[in-house]
Amino acid sequence: MTNKPTAFITGITGQDGSYLAELLLDKGYQVVGLVRRSTHYQFENINHLIGRVNLEHGDLIDTHTIERIVAKYQPDEVYNLAAQSVPADSWRQPIVTGEITALGPVRVLEAIRRFNPDARFYQASSREIYGGVPQEVVDESTPLLANNPYGVAKLYAHLMTRTYRQSYDLFACGGILFNHESPRRSLHFVTRKVTMAVACIKLGIERPPVNELGEPLIIENKVKLGNLDAVRDWGYAKEYVEAMWLMLQQKEPQDYIIATNTVHTIRDLCQVAFAYVGLDWQDHVEQDPRFMRPTEIAASRGDYARAKAELGWQPRTFFKELIELMVDADMQRLTRRQDSRPAIDLERD
Ligand code: NAP
Repeated sequence: MTNKPTAFITGITGQDGSYLAELLLDKGYQVVGLVRRSTHYQFENINHLIGRVNLEHGDLIDTHTIERIVAKYQPDEVYNLAAQSVPADSWRQPIVTGEITALGPVRVLEAIRRFNPDARFYQASSREIYGGVPQEVVDESTPLLANNPYGVAKLYAHLMTRTYRQSYDLFACGGILFNHESPRRSLHFVTRKVTMAVACIKLGIERPPVNELGEPLIIENKVKLGNLDAVRDWGYAKEYVEAMWLMLQQKEPQDYIIATNTVHTIRDLCQVAFAYVGLDWQDHVEQDPRFMRPTEIAASRGDYARAKAELGWQPRTFFKELIELMVDADMQRLTRRQDSRPAIDLERD
């Protein structure tokens, strides 16, 4: 045991978990991370942190491991970032999405309630809890109308977080984060698919990574995407984890929207990413109905006024700069690996 404040992060191997771990280590925390057992090495995002974080094997499906870790470390702060985090996959796997994304947070809340009720809890809630609301701009008072299995699972977890706050007086916050991206974003998400496609095409990579259907990401210099008219509010993950920490430093627990209050289409994304390396996106992008969502979320943007007023948080990196830094990162990654490895693994790059 140590005198440092202790934070327990589920989902530490993911995009947000890895950035949050870095932030908390810099602030002097002891960081404990939950990692799933895997046959293959899955620590690419936290390779540089090995030895500085305590890793505990477990699973959000397994109540026992969560309780054991909470009881053992008595963390001051618990960040529940683990989830089946891919909305598109949630139609193919609705039950596992419910088990992990909806019930997982309740297992963590129960562990806190029973073994460490003074811990402060952050739940990774999502813009998808608003689903298809008609409002152009949403804030924390907008009705919750989730319309896909992932959104419904996140909504259940969001309401349970609120319920535990109100029923048991736990310090529990829901961070309602709009889409946020980075070079650590999984290739299951469209921003990273596009920036990786740009890098593969520009560098003439012969064996590209595979997409979520197990096909090469690039075929004949083209990438296949879903609805090009879909609209998102995209921010930078590294800045969004700062808001998570700030929420747990407040006097009172509260839910906060974290967003940029600006929106762009997938078409805009393609245009910016390909133009950055001197290519015309229309020569390299095809819309493919197999990647369309059965229901689309509304084209709303997030009003982060409460976060700005109470947390002092606001976004600093916006759409074009974000996409360009992701293209740069994929170009560098492929350039480094071009001679050393024949194929690129879906999840690890
Ligand atoms: P991510 O990169 O997909 O990371 C998900 C993490 O969850 C990974 O570490 C994964 O571990 C872990 N995980 C999955 N199932 C698990 C299980 N059964 N037990 C334990 N760990 C499990 O996601 P992210 O982008 O960092 O997002 C973090 C959280 O914010 C997620 O809950 C996501 O749904 C939510 N969120 C994200 C966004 C966004 O735009 N990024 C927006 C709103 C909300 P493995 O490495 O073993 O797969």
